[in-house]
Amino acid sequence: MNIDTQLTHLGRASAKSMQSVNPPITKTSTVVFPDLHSFESSKTKTVFENIRYGRYGTQITFELQQAMAKIECTETCIATASGMSAIVAVLSSYAELGKHILVSEGVYKSTKAFCETKLAKSGIEITFFNKNDHIENLITPETSLVYIEVPSSTNMQLLDIKSVCKAAHGKGIVVACDATWGTPIFFKPHLLGIDISIHSATKYINGHSDIILGLITGTDEKMMPVRDWCYRYGSYAASDSCWLALRGLRTLSIRMKQHQENAMIVANWLRSQPEVTNVIYPPFFTGIDLELWKTQFSGAAGPFKVELQPCQDHNFEQFINSLDLFSIGASYGGFSSVVTPTNQTKQESSINKKRIVRFHIGLENPYDLCDDIRKALQYLSI
Ligand SMILES: *Cc1c(COP(=O)(O)O)cnc(C)c1O
Repeated sequence: MNIDTQLTHLGRASAKSMQSVNPPITKTSTVVFPDLHSFESSKTKTVFENIRYGRYGTQITFELQQAMAKIECTETCIATASGMSAIVAVLSSYAELGKHILVSEGVYKSTKAFCETKLAKSGIEITFFNKNDHIENLITPETSLVYIEVPSSTNMQLLDIKSVCKAAHGKGIVVACDATWGTPIFFKPHLLGIDISIHSATKYINGHSDIILGLITGTDEKMMPVRDWCYRYGSYAASDSCWLALRGLRTLSIRMKQHQENAMIVANWLRSQPEVTNVIYPPFFTGIDLELWKTQFSGAAGPFKVELQPCQDHNFEQFINSLDLFSIGASYGGFSSVVTPTNQTKQESSINKKRIVRFHIGLENPYDLCDDIRKALQYLSI
């Protein structure tokens, strides 16, 4: 079935018994059983999803998980408290199995921090690699996970995913990918060979900037250690958040089409502005990177990075503060536009500083957004 049809119909089984379009939210801590036999057999069930105790999820959790697994073209999904808790669950559960992991450079900052602090202190060796490395040469007998993020949060780097998977699978090593940016609409990790896909559903999947939630997908076999880790350490996804994420899925496809259309208009317009020195956006890549982009993604989400010409601190501040339609913040994927000023290096003198901002293009009219940026850019043209 086409994904548009799936997004409309999946995750509604429990609505039928309510004679309702949408499934109900169950809010419970204790799961109660009609008799001793069903209580006892709930403990021994080997199925992936098991109604046994509120922390393991209720019907609405399972509705979302099953819908997400189907959309991601795999068997199983686990919802977690946040995108970050999903990342921690995957890294921890697989790092424990071997003691060495490979992580692609430029991953989400908190992911890198978790590797370099908690994992490293627990005696796990971490090797960071980039698109020029041959990971065959970096794999050791202890390697139990290759973790990637495409495009990477900090520098929007792409990787040859099929080659990475081939090298890892040749040694029986699992590949996990933070697939948040691409969304299930534009990026199909499992069809490219990735074993475990991670989404911060906080972003596009929910799409309305009102929940924090993580989703992890993969086959039953590959997900078992992750599920056990989530259960053991209590990574609980709130039922309200699952309900809202499922609602977000209904419009994910049409929202992504609009985000893409708007982002292209704004990014193209920005490229022709004299105050803009570069727009870092996968559809604008060239050579091998463009090839990777075209073969691995079917579309582009909203966030891209913009390099501005050097300017004084106060000019930059005026530029950011005079944007009216862009909220200043550190997230993306919601219906409204956001500007994220990236870390400014302190040592350089203010006039030589490379000014980089990330724009998330929302669902406003894109020409209104261009007008808003035009008005702000005047503070940069000295
Ligand atoms: C936002 C984000 C996360 C973290 O997700 P939360 O739901 O905020 O915990 C992880 N990875 C990427 C790529 C993200 O953009």
